[in-house]
Amino acid sequence: MDTRTRAVEEIRPAIAGLLTVYACGPTVYRYAHVGNLRTFLLTDMIRRTAEQSGLRVKLVQNITDVGHLQDDTAIDSTGEDKLLTAARAENKDPFTIARFYEAAFHADLALLNIRPADAYPRASEWIDSMIRLITGLIEQDHAYVGTDGSVYFAAQSFPSYGALSGNRLEELRAGHREDAETLAAGKRFHADWALWKSAGAQREMVWDSPWGPGFPGWHTECSAMSLELLGTSIDVHTGGIDLRFPHHEDERAQSDSFAGREVVRHWVHGEHLLFENRKMSKSSGNVVLVSDVVARGHDALALRLAFLQQRYRQQANLSWDAIAGADKLLTRWRGLVAEWAESASKPMCADYSAELREAFENDLDTPQAIQVLRRLEKAELPAGSKLETFLWVDHYLGLDLAREIGKAPVALPAGAQAVLDERAAARTRKDFAASDRLRDELATLGVIVKDTSSGQEWALS
Ligand code: AMP
Ligand code: ZN
Repeated sequence: MDTRTRAVEEIRPAIAGLLTVYACGPTVYRYAHVGNLRTFLLTDMIRRTAEQSGLRVKLVQNITDVGHLQDDTAIDSTGEDKLLTAARAENKDPFTIARFYEAAFHADLALLNIRPADAYPRASEWIDSMIRLITGLIEQDHAYVGTDGSVYFAAQSFPSYGALSGNRLEELRAGHREDAETLAAGKRFHADWALWKSAGAQREMVWDSPWGPGFPGWHTECSAMSLELLGTSIDVHTGGIDLRFPHHEDERAQSDSFAGREVVRHWVHGEHLLFENRKMSKSSGNVVLVSDVVARGHDALALRLAFLQQRYRQQANLSWDAIAGADKLLTRWRGLVAEWAESASKPMCADYSAELREAFENDLDTPQAIQVLRRLEKAELPAGSKLETFLWVDHYLGLDLAREIGKAPVALPAGAQAVLDERAAARTRKDFAASDRLRDELATLGVIVKDTSSGQEWALS
């Protein structure tokens, strides 16, 4: 679903055979919660579906380690950088915090079989490129230095502002600062936003620039890094629905003004995830992490399946019951795949595979694909054909449906899979103390693990 045209559009890459994708990544001041991961999974599903239809995919996902302020939802944001706040709370250097949560983000992606991007540019390492972008925008009269020394984008210089969110400049005035306050803030027009913020009293995470010491505004990084790494025509740009405004609206204005063309061909936004009917937020105490799912004894991929049971473009309400249900379904499918693997392989079920492909290509109708698989598992068809169809569809689903093949008849004792998953995660984030503790825990369950170059292997003691 294309946010700008508000219609389902066929994606035809600008360069034949190559799909370029830019995904807004995490702000690395805390662990990603499962809502964030639902949005990251959206990009993975676009990528996998494109690859299945024969495209090569070039994917860039940024790491926001500077510039995302506490109150970035208002158009003229104020407040402290999220990383500096976290650094103060944890009494650590902001970049130590950033690298820690960046590693945790990669570990979470790995647990959910979200395949890595081609590049993960860190905002803090692309300041020069942001300065070039801002300089270009000033030269073209799209930006100006405000009376407070910050550089602002002149919203009125971009006539199609509002195309993504429907927020017109005049309407934005209501509820925002009065003119006197706008001017006091250093800018000329209420809806202008900072591309570069003057450091003021801030000492950490500050860089030199032609406009004096300061730091980039949050929206600046995505324009600069996407233009430089993917060029002035980007096929797909993803993010969660909250990023539509102001982040993407402002990014579009910046990139298009700089490049002199519509840079992003398709904006795709994932709707939000609720948990047990509530918005996930620290203040309401219902932030759920992948580690919480694993700690409850679930396979992390049950979470992936639970997400896929709902369509990305609809708000989804996740619950512990839904995750448990998905875990059961996943176990059943893996068991069936292992059972079918004992029969001779047969060609895929053509009708079913066509229906499945259509579901994915129809704006990622993953719930429909899962319905088709539920029918297929019960269909009167040769086991070898069902096997091949399930193995093939797993390229889209990423659920490790073949995991049990070859393991039968040895079954893990209850709860051991969760400990194994947790240990794999600990090893990914190089937490060897936790890894050793979990190895001992497995031993008490009667499971011995061995670490190999392709991950951990287990046997019953
Ligand atoms: P952040 O780390 O806060 O910058 O967010 C990373 C990504 O997660 C962004 O694309 C957000 O739009 C997305 N996001 C934040 N909250 C949710 C939620 N509850 N459900 C789905 N996506 C979310
Ligand atoms: Zn972004």
